[in-house]
Amino acid sequence: MIRVGVNGYGTIGKRVADAVVAQPDMILRGVAKRSPNHEAESAIRRDHDLYAADESRIDDFADADIPVAGTLPDLLDAVNVVVDCCPAGVGARNRDIYDAHDVRVVFQGGENATVADVSFVARTNFEAARDADTVRVVSCNTTGIARLLAPLEESFGVETARITLIRRGGDPAQTDRGPINDIVPDPASIPSHHGPDVNTVLSDIDVDTAALKAPVTAMHTHSVNVTLETEPTADAVRELLDGERRLFMIPEGAGLDGAGALQEYARDVGRPRGDLWENCLWAESIHVSGRDLYLFQNVHQEADVVPENVDAIRAMTTDTAASESMAVTDRTLGVGLASRLDTTTEPQESLAADD
Ligand code: NAD
Repeated sequence: MIRVGVNGYGTIGKRVADAVVAQPDMILRGVAKRSPNHEAESAIRRDHDLYAADESRIDDFADADIPVAGTLPDLLDAVNVVVDCCPAGVGARNRDIYDAHDVRVVFQGGENATVADVSFVARTNFEAARDADTVRVVSCNTTGIARLLAPLEESFGVETARITLIRRGGDPAQTDRGPINDIVPDPASIPSHHGPDVNTVLSDIDVDTAALKAPVTAMHTHSVNVTLETEPTADAVRELLDGERRLFMIPEGAGLDGAGALQEYARDVGRPRGDLWENCLWAESIHVSGRDLYLFQNVHQEADVVPENVDAIRAMTTDTAASESMAVTDRTLGVGLASRLDTTTEPQESLAADD
């Protein structure tokens, strides 16, 4: 069993912790947290061993009547891998303590690419993380773009991709974030950092990105234009992308007309926390004119990186093949909405699991 700890139990950390618990080859040794808030209390309710981020925090947890099993160093002594889910930039500051405890580390996309040996999306560069000591799972937007461009590059060739990202202003609980009643270029300079970040996991793709922030919390929206090297039909593109388990092709006529409906659907089908681990692509938005492909996709920022974290752990610590790791991750989490909703398509191939 791969012994895993999660440091930082917020939006991403709590989801990664639950995903690790669901894996047949992993055991969650505990989660570490700085503040004794409602998320710390919910970690206890979910039977996770909770560790204080450092000694100075122990009294705060005691005052809040939240029991802790120790401090972060105790957790690090008990694991092979720690998944750092602390706020952006804090991960890099944690490197020294991870090095001192000789643990492998999965960082998140809020860190600079230089924080780790390799940046990671399972669909594009699983093998690059094989046996690595440190891996950075790229951001939610970069993950969503890479998952889309990889199959397009393999089947049709990508000459240039231009993507406009309409980003959510904050996560649902981040009431202190904005903008309010505005749509703001962010950054106003073009290209945004997302294109270069895609190149950390798909090095040969020519991709330019521009980004805005909108006063919404549900999901990011990407308006995608890709000049391909060949001239496929729109149906051929649809069929290709429909075959990717981490892409959800929203069927025409399903009534899923935006992020709100998608999140309602996720809750209705029993997704934990309403999570959408897949990119969500509107089938009818797929349009091809000559070599130019256009489409819209949505990315659930709180969720799409979660399966990637699980696969990163396996790539670093086992010799499990990429396809097998992704199949086990997807089966244990329930990734793959298309086969449930669109009854006109064949169920996706169920790959052999290792348990
Ligand atoms: P968050 O603020 O929701 O959670 C961070 C957690 O870490 C909080 O529980 C906080 O109490 C805790 N914490 C803060 N300092 C700590 C410390 N020194 N030691 C231990 N715990 C500490 O943040 P998040 O949104 O989960 O983001 C985590 C990382 O994931 C960032 O790199 C972020 O860029 C990345 N990411 C976030 C999203 C998203 O949309 N939320 C999506 C993809 C990637």
